[in-house]
Amino acid sequence: MIDFSKFDSLVSLTMYFNCEEKCRQTVVETRWGVGKEQDVVCPYCGQHHCKSRKDGKFRCPKCKRNFSCRVGTIFEDSKVSLLKWFIAMYLISSHKKGISSSQLGRDISVTQTTAWYMLHKIRTLFRQNDSEAFHGEIECDEVYIGGKEKWKHESMRTPHTQGRSTVTKTPIFGMLERSEIINEKGERGFMSYVRAMVVENTRKDTLQPIISQFVEDGSMVFTDELNAYNGLDKLGYDHKICNHGSLQYVVDGKIYTNNIEGFWSHFRRMITGCYHNISDEHLQSYIDEAVYRWNTRKADESARFSDMFLKSIGLIVTWNELKLCRVA
Ligand SMILES: [Zn+2]
Repeated sequence: MIDFSKFDSLVSLTMYFNCEEKCRQTVVETRWGVGKEQDVVCPYCGQHHCKSRKDGKFRCPKCKRNFSCRVGTIFEDSKVSLLKWFIAMYLISSHKKGISSSQLGRDISVTQTTAWYMLHKIRTLFRQNDSEAFHGEIECDEVYIGGKEKWKHESMRTPHTQGRSTVTKTPIFGMLERSEIINEKGERGFMSYVRAMVVENTRKDTLQPIISQFVEDGSMVFTDELNAYNGLDKLGYDHKICNHGSLQYVVDGKIYTNNIEGFWSHFRRMITGCYHNISDEHLQSYIDEAVYRWNTRKADESARFSDMFLKSIGLIVTWNELKLCRVA
C-alpha cells in the first residue's frame, strides 16, 4: 500500500506520479493488492482472480468482460489522464476556499467544461457520512441561501426583509459538535465538526426529526429562539436557548451558537469567493464540500488527499451512488 503521508505538496505528488503507468499501477494495487496477494475483482459480476491482459486491462473469466482499473471509480467514462485527476483532487482539497472550473482548467490544461465535470465528480467524494451521530455539546442553527439580507450584520439589515418562508431563499440546517482534540505533542485543542443539509423548511416537524437522527439522546443542544426548537427537552435533550432577538450572544459561558455561525460565514466566503451563483440542484454538493473542508481543517494536505484517493476508487463511495449525481 502506498504511503500517502509523503504527498505534503503538489511537487512531491507529481514527482511520485511521474507517468500515467505509475498512476494506473497505484489504482490497481490500492484496489486489489500487490504481487501474489493481488486479487482483481470483476466490477461487473464480483468474480475474483481476474487475469491481466497485455493492454493493461483485465478479463473476467466468468462474465468474459474486459475492464480497466477505472471501472467502478470516479475516473470511469473519462478520457482525462489519471495524473490530471490526481492533481485536480489535490488542488481541490488543498485550496481553502475551493477552486473554480476555469482556474482548474488552466492549472491542469483541460477545457473549462471538462474541469467543471471533474469538479462535480470530485465533489461527490465530500458527501457526508450519515452513519455518524453527534454527542456532547451541539449547536444547531439555520440559514437561508439565495437572498442577500441574511448575510448582512443585524444592524445593516433592511427591516422586514427577513421572511423565513420566502420562495426565493433556500433554507439550510446545520448542527455542530464541539469537540476537544489532542495533537501529536499531547496539546489539547478545540475542534468542531459540522453536518449541514438543505431542508424543505425550518418548521418543527422538519428540523426535530433531523436532530433526533443525528444527535444522541442526552446531549446538550444550543439553539436560537426559533419556535421550531421548542420541545427538544421532551426528546431527551438538555436544550439551551440563546436569545438573539434580545441581542443575547453568549449566556453562562457556553450557551451560544457562534461556532456554527462561523461555519456559515466560511460557507458564504466559499460561495462568494469562488462559485458565485449556485443552483438549488447543486447546493447540497457545495454544502458537502464546505462541511468537508471544515471537518478536515486540522488535517494536513496528505491526509486529505489520501482520504479522497481512497474514496475516488470506490473504497467508500459506491459507483451506484456516483451515477445518481453524474452531470448530464
Ligand atoms: Zn465478471
